[in-house]
Amino acid sequence: MPLESVIGHIDDLVGQINSLISNLQTVPYPRVRNYLGISGQNFASGLRIVKEMLKEYIIKRAEIIANLSKDQNQTLSVDDVIRSYWHQQVSNTYSIVERFNNDTLMQAKANIPFEIYHWLLDFFYNMGLDTPVVLQQSNQFINQSFKRAIVEPLEYLIKIGEKPIIPGSLVQVKSPDILKNYPLTSGYIISYISGEGTNPLLWPVLVHEAFHIMDKEINFMSRIEKHFTSLDKKLPVLNKNPEVNSKWIEEILADVLAIHTFGPMYAYSLLDYFERAPYVQTIDHPEMSIRLYSVYQYLDSTRSNYTDILYRCVNSCKGKIINKIDRYEKSGQLEEDEKQKIQELYKEISEWYESLKPNSFTQTLKNYVLESRRSVSEAEKAESEKKFVLFPNLLFDFDEIRNLLLEDRISLAIDPNILLNVVLANLELYNRERHLDVLVDSIKKWKVKQAWQLSIHEINERL
Ligand SMILES: [Zn+2]
Repeated sequence: MPLESVIGHIDDLVGQINSLISNLQTVPYPRVRNYLGISGQNFASGLRIVKEMLKEYIIKRAEIIANLSKDQNQTLSVDDVIRSYWHQQVSNTYSIVERFNNDTLMQAKANIPFEIYHWLLDFFYNMGLDTPVVLQQSNQFINQSFKRAIVEPLEYLIKIGEKPIIPGSLVQVKSPDILKNYPLTSGYIISYISGEGTNPLLWPVLVHEAFHIMDKEINFMSRIEKHFTSLDKKLPVLNKNPEVNSKWIEEILADVLAIHTFGPMYAYSLLDYFERAPYVQTIDHPEMSIRLYSVYQYLDSTRSNYTDILYRCVNSCKGKIINKIDRYEKSGQLEEDEKQKIQELYKEISEWYESLKPNSFTQTLKNYVLESRRSVSEAEKAESEKKFVLFPNLLFDFDEIRNLLLEDRISLAIDPNILLNVVLANLELYNRERHLDVLVDSIKKWKVKQAWQLSIHEINERL
């Protein structure tokens, strides 16, 4: 058969992906396992699409041309024809299928702890997004749909199928629409820089990527635009080109939503990444100064009376960010009218976000304090009524969490969002070897506690 070795190789890769999928049983969280399985199936479909396209779009055409050559007393083999008309496409195929294989491997081997992976998926799910999302080790931060990762690279093959004409002849071949035969399950891939998998600074950045995905699914951009229209206002103009302006506002939107959801230390993460990998504005991303000034609004305006955690976290990064903003102002990278536009944008995004009644960081803190207080009084009451009760949840403040977690290395069953903020606010104490396990164990404990509390309520209701 023509292209036998390429086709044999594709079959091999499909086999490799299938065995990868069957080895996913070791992944401890069903949702992570399920999503990785879906992604693997999609990439295996991608490989089958390539194989079918080679057969239907290239080999079939080459066979017709080879037959025609016999009529004209030439003896071109099918392989000769492929070599002269489609050698570039065939060689592309080799690297594309290899990339599909590599992508599934880099997803199955995500070096982010599964607990963090699961925390992130939970967070998506709680925001109303039940589309599969997988993480992938890579050399850059991007988010893309399965369709974009799998179908777009095949454009060069699809184009061959779209043209009904056979090169050098009058024969027409109508190609089948192979994409229809292998529908992909919709979903997204978030790629992150491999070396950062166990770095807590990375995790808030993944929350930012999550909001880009949610924008694609739930269309935050048009909703924020409607919010502005309902107030008889227009979205601020940060760039004269409306398309670029919309992309920039989407970027600020993802930043502002991320800081409201993850908490103040998102600003610190952003600052750190800007210092490590500085960039100048692109059509997709506004200047770093604009983004930093946007999240600074949160640090400047968010108040909480329940615990010192928010205040302490805000203070730990506010100074560094003010310094940076000062420098931007002095060097003319942040102008007065830009600042006003951003303040306005921040204010409206925040009001709109509040109207969604989200699981914001401030709400998480409030719940933590109120639940701890309630749990202490419930424990006392249950004891006097001889009901079954777990020991009460003690309320820890910022210093206590820092000391227990980072100095005494005691894992705590506290909402991971709170712990991650306290860890980032004390990053100079954090050491991957000493603390990653403590952090991961904390998340496990927290999950067990949630399940336990649910069952306690059920037991008490029956008593
Ligand atoms: Zn972004």
